[in-house]
Amino acid sequence: MKIWDVVVVGGGNAAYSAALAAREQGASVLMLEAAPEEESGGNSRFTAGAMRVVYNGVDDIKALVPDLSQGEIDTTDFGTYTQDQFFDDMARVTQFRTDPNLCELLVTKSHDTLVWMREKGIRFVPIYGRQAFKIEGRFKFWGGLTVETVGGGEGLIAMLKASGKKHDIEVRYRTRATDLVYDGARVTGVKVRHGNEVSTIEARAVVLASGGFEANTEWRTRYLGPGWDLAKVRGSRFNTGEGIRMALDIGASPYGNWSGCHAVQWELNAPEFGDLAVGDQFQKHSYPFAILVNATGKRFVDEGADFRNYTYAKYGRVVLEQPGQFAWQIWDKKTKHLQRDEYNIKQCTKVVVNTIEELAKKLDGVNAEQFVKTIAEYNAAVRADISFNPNIKDGRRTEGLSVPKSNWANTIDTPPFEGYAVTCGVTFTFGGLRVSNDAQVIDLDYRLINGLYAAGELVGGIFYFNYPGGTGLTSGSVFGRIAGNAAGKMARG
Ligand SMILES: Cc1cc2nc3c(=O)[nH]c(=O)nc-3n(C[C@H](O)[C@H](O)[C@H](O)COP(=O)(O)OP(=O)(O)OC[C@H]3O[C@@H](n4cnc5c(N)ncnc54)[C@H](O)[C@@H]3O)c2cc1C
Repeated sequence: MKIWDVVVVGGGNAAYSAALAAREQGASVLMLEAAPEEESGGNSRFTAGAMRVVYNGVDDIKALVPDLSQGEIDTTDFGTYTQDQFFDDMARVTQFRTDPNLCELLVTKSHDTLVWMREKGIRFVPIYGRQAFKIEGRFKFWGGLTVETVGGGEGLIAMLKASGKKHDIEVRYRTRATDLVYDGARVTGVKVRHGNEVSTIEARAVVLASGGFEANTEWRTRYLGPGWDLAKVRGSRFNTGEGIRMALDIGASPYGNWSGCHAVQWELNAPEFGDLAVGDQFQKHSYPFAILVNATGKRFVDEGADFRNYTYAKYGRVVLEQPGQFAWQIWDKKTKHLQRDEYNIKQCTKVVVNTIEELAKKLDGVNAEQFVKTIAEYNAAVRADISFNPNIKDGRRTEGLSVPKSNWANTIDTPPFEGYAVTCGVTFTFGGLRVSNDAQVIDLDYRLINGLYAAGELVGGIFYFNYPGGTGLTSGSVFGRIAGNAAGKMARG
């Protein structure tokens, strides 16, 4: 029977990054993907392809987007996103819990890793529109998120697949890894199920890159807590925590924020799992320019606490905690032009009317009388004397409300009025496996498990409570590359 140098479990961004890096070491590489080919690519395929990366100026952006035109450079303020800024963001949003070693690898290797991805055939473009608004003829990027892959997540997976093919990486679809083969000293392979057949694949090293447990209702309820069974899954239905379970079964050490996850506001009537035809468009991410009300007709969260990409990943949980697990985003004409394209899809639970009273009647499940009161109180509290600017934290806030809005507060008084119904969509879970700086899995006695590496969502210790947008893909690439390099070297050594 063939012994592979490296077997990678998974078919998303972290798995491909590991596979490509292992090939660079001369290793023979097999990828195992639980999904059929048409559903392959994991959560990575559902993304917008936005990737958080350190850059010290436009030259670093040009290293990732070499065909950036002079016209684009002249009309854009890219600013910088330094290592210090990335560290600060990670420390702040994780409430200083992010593992310092893992965080340092993520930050310091981000730019170098994206340049490496470019060498592997992945193309990037600036995220005009979503991460930079045009004001007086000039774009200004905000929130440390500046590049995305061409074609979003679909494009990313297509480019990774093409690169995998070019580098002779074999992929077996509909092949679910079920167990690790471990003799107490080293991992020597994986047991798999393909249709009704079970078999063992031998390997010198195994990289687990099979995502978190977000698509497993039972694990969500067990670890995230009561109510999480009611969340919608934004992405792949295949990320059921099996990679984590297989490693725990052989004594791997669990690590990180097992009760935490990334979860966003998501279309109320979206299906149970992600739909590749819709991708990430069920999300409703322009809420900093709207207000949110719950079933009682009241606001419950500071919609403008920070830029969208520092609050969106924790507000799904806040919506899940509301009565009936839903909320309505309320808009008027004044900020409608700031809505992202996802507000235009036909699969929206949406109401458009001309008066607040009509809106109150049409918001399903909402206390109408209180809603009208809430709007009046909110409007009266807006500091309209401070000018509105969506490109900066403008300090245009409410005053005197028990739930403040800290930035971008605009009165809701200009028809047409719109309501969008949202619930909680879980993106990925934060808890996972403990790994070394070489992405090698560590056991309960804090020893390295020979032959076992991990990358992507199932690495614990990086994110706690919250997450700076665009870091998941970067983390998968950085740790995938590290894991693939180390596994390839070990297997060939
Ligand atoms: C709708 C949506 C939008 C997002 N947008 C962004 C964004 O713009 N930027 C960003 O950085 N992040 C984004 N994310 C988060 C991002 O998707 C993840 O952080 C990242 O893709 C994780 O990569 P991964 O390779 O670890 O996991 P995945 O890409 O999910 O890959 C896991 C793979 O493992 C396979 N698998 C699972 N179990 C097994 C098994 N037992 N055997 C074999 N294979 C198995 C799955 O089929 C899948 O192919 C988004 C997520 C979603 C859902």
